[in-house]
Amino acid sequence: MHELFTPLQLDAEEVALRKRFLEFGAQDVDVLKALSLKLDGEAEFFVEDFYAHLLAFRETAQFLEGDGRLEQLKKTQTAYFRSLLAGDYGEDYVRDRIRIGVAHDRAGLEPQWYMGAYSKYLALMLPKVFRLPGAADESKLNAALALLKIVFFDLSLAIDAYIHSNEQAIRDKAAQLAALNMVAIAISSSLGLQDVLTKIMQQGIELTGSKAACVAFYNQDTGLFEEWHTQGLSDPFVSRMSFRPGGLADETFKTGNYVLSNGRPGAPHPLSRLARGEGLQCFICLPLTSHSYPMGVLYFYRTDRDVFLPEEINLLTTFANLAAGAIHNARLHAQTQDMATTDALTDLYNRRALDARLECEILRSQRYSKPFSLMMLDIDHFKKVNDTHGHAAGDSVLRQLGALLIDETRDVDIVARYGGEEFVITLPETTIEPAKQVAERIRSRIADAPFTLPHGETIHLTISIGVSCFPNAAAAKSEEILERADRALYIAKRLGRNRVSTLI
Ligand code: GH3
Ligand code: MG
Ligand code: MG
Repeated sequence: MHELFTPLQLDAEEVALRKRFLEFGAQDVDVLKALSLKLDGEAEFFVEDFYAHLLAFRETAQFLEGDGRLEQLKKTQTAYFRSLLAGDYGEDYVRDRIRIGVAHDRAGLEPQWYMGAYSKYLALMLPKVFRLPGAADESKLNAALALLKIVFFDLSLAIDAYIHSNEQAIRDKAAQLAALNMVAIAISSSLGLQDVLTKIMQQGIELTGSKAACVAFYNQDTGLFEEWHTQGLSDPFVSRMSFRPGGLADETFKTGNYVLSNGRPGAPHPLSRLARGEGLQCFICLPLTSHSYPMGVLYFYRTDRDVFLPEEINLLTTFANLAAGAIHNARLHAQTQDMATTDALTDLYNRRALDARLECEILRSQRYSKPFSLMMLDIDHFKKVNDTHGHAAGDSVLRQLGALLIDETRDVDIVARYGGEEFVITLPETTIEPAKQVAERIRSRIADAPFTLPHGETIHLTISIGVSCFPNAAAAKSEEILERADRALYIAKRLGRNRVSTLI
């Protein structure tokens, strides 16, 4: 049997059984064929009255709207009325009825309107049967009965199609829930933000059969989309992507509603030339909102068709909420991590982070027999700053000094706040002479730099620096390196401060 029959569990045997139950047999087929000949041309007449009936109800009339749609439907309906009497009620007939039932269900036509339509058909048809000229009462009755049987047969097939569609809809819903569940597990299984974003785009693409995805974050301070991540888009496309104020992403973000863009004539959001060049047929932009805090937007791009179906949009809306929650968690996690490794006052690494990083740096230096230098810095007479200008002024000085140290060092150097007004800087792959030069440069820059206090006043400071170096870091331990730099610093202080001392 044809595939359409399979999900309905309707095979030839079942169809034959139904016909037997309706007592619809060869004799009825003959009667209907004969009736068809006698009523030749009547179907066209019916169709007008039939549609007049459908147009009288909003529920049915809505399916008849649109240019030329009514005329097209009248033709199809006329053909159907003919087929009802044509005498061929085999496999093709059954398949056709089911196909149309499924199409009506998809269009949203409810089964009760089917009943009314068939009743109207009979109300138009039966008077014609009973007024057939020259026919015996017996044959009129047989024709009416045959007509009723074929109508019941068709109605049963339509209802089958509806039931099947509903079962299918329930199965689809269950499959969607299972898919969302998988997505939730996948995207919440990792805590790294980058990992979470990659999974969100990947899972969303799979869920909808899309070609590509993009997550764009909005910066509340600047009012702009400043960071975006993509998957499945070409480099030229990505390099030319823009999120201008008042644009589509902005609209999605500000209204909290999804926006769809495609190339259909009159589309409210037409596809850009760039998007068409990428082979895209449509895309959807959804808001990313976590705990009612809007954070950005999520895009999915299609190349297979130019629309997202309503059920896909529903699914994606739930998906976007899950995604926003996962992003929120990943951000919180990153913040907590930061707090554990960052000094809150200066934003530099804290001592704990320094210890961890120093260990790695020394191991690397040993493995590759590279030199390694480290400096310890301490502000001279810092107590006086606090005593004279207050603790807040001291804090401000520490912050400015931290920024200055970052400015004076390379990316590979670690700058850490080691204690109150003591700082440590590591200098990988640096021998003693260049390390001394760096220390001297920092010392003199600080001695020259004015530090601005909260009330606008400026002061000058000096620092002392102790530098230790391990030519190949061979037997070095991190405590040993720090201790040596500390000793060098002590020497610098004793020699009069505002100077650099070294201990190899
Ligand atoms: P020197 O190092 O030249 O011997 O003299 P000093 O005055 O800098 O040395 P000391 O170690 O005695 O004082 C360090 C001061 O740093 C003491 C403390 O009040 C201050 N300090 C430490 N941490 C902070 C901080 O977070 N904020 C502020 N404002 N001051 C701090
Ligand atoms: Mg100190
Ligand atoms: Mg000091």
